[in-house]
Amino acid sequence: MPLQIVTVPCRSDNYAFLLHDDASGRTALIDAPEAAPITAAAKSRGWGIEEIWITHHHGDHVEGVDALKAEFGSHVSGAAADAHRLPALDRHLRDEDSFEFADHAVHVLDVSGHTVGHIAFHVPDAAAAFTADSLMALGCGRVFEGTFDQMWASLSRLANLPLETIICSGHEYTAANGRFALTIEPDNPDLISRVSAVADARARDEATVPSQLSEELATNPFLRASRPEVKAALGMRNATDAQVFAEIRTRKDNF
Ligand code: ZN
Ligand code: FE
Repeated sequence: MPLQIVTVPCRSDNYAFLLHDDASGRTALIDAPEAAPITAAAKSRGWGIEEIWITHHHGDHVEGVDALKAEFGSHVSGAAADAHRLPALDRHLRDEDSFEFADHAVHVLDVSGHTVGHIAFHVPDAAAAFTADSLMALGCGRVFEGTFDQMWASLSRLANLPLETIICSGHEYTAANGRFALTIEPDNPDLISRVSAVADARARDEATVPSQLSEELATNPFLRASRPEVKAALGMRNATDAQVFAEIRTRKDNF
């Protein structure tokens, strides 16, 4: 397997990801919520951390960056737009930038909404997207800095990635997201079976992240705001997709 992804639980409910290229032995870390568990996950495999890619400025995604950089000499990448509020960057990224990681292409998408300047990383050779607090398992991040329109546009971009894309998101919020999702689509059979699988996984203390884009499209209410059946269920048949998204996001904020 050319690229491996290791999910690293951090803090109370955060996830960081190690992306390792077997051929070169190089490893990239996506987000650094906490240095100690990430250091342990890398060292136990005999890996370094040559690169750190930051998704957004929130403390629960960047707090470990400086310590990890000191330990591993990592090269740090993040959004140019957020350079003033991120740890010191070695590479400044903009929407639609691409760069190479160990001969694999990495595509940068601006997915603002949760924050303005939130980026996601799509790595086609790993069939993976690192989405942090934009698209999440059965959910999406709260819209703190951007607008609902902006968040809907960001989610729509992610929804257009290949169906088999593995969505590596930032938090273990899936069970609570599922309880909310059932209030929007109580009769969606894919959602009902996913919520029960998530409950089983959590009872075994297993992670429900990453997930697959195809299952998010079938079950995640925030990606489904454009569906006629969702609009009808909300009594919003004639509303725009972004208006329906805004309604669902507002309901979730008050759930
Ligand atoms: Zn965040
Ligand atoms: Fe977060």
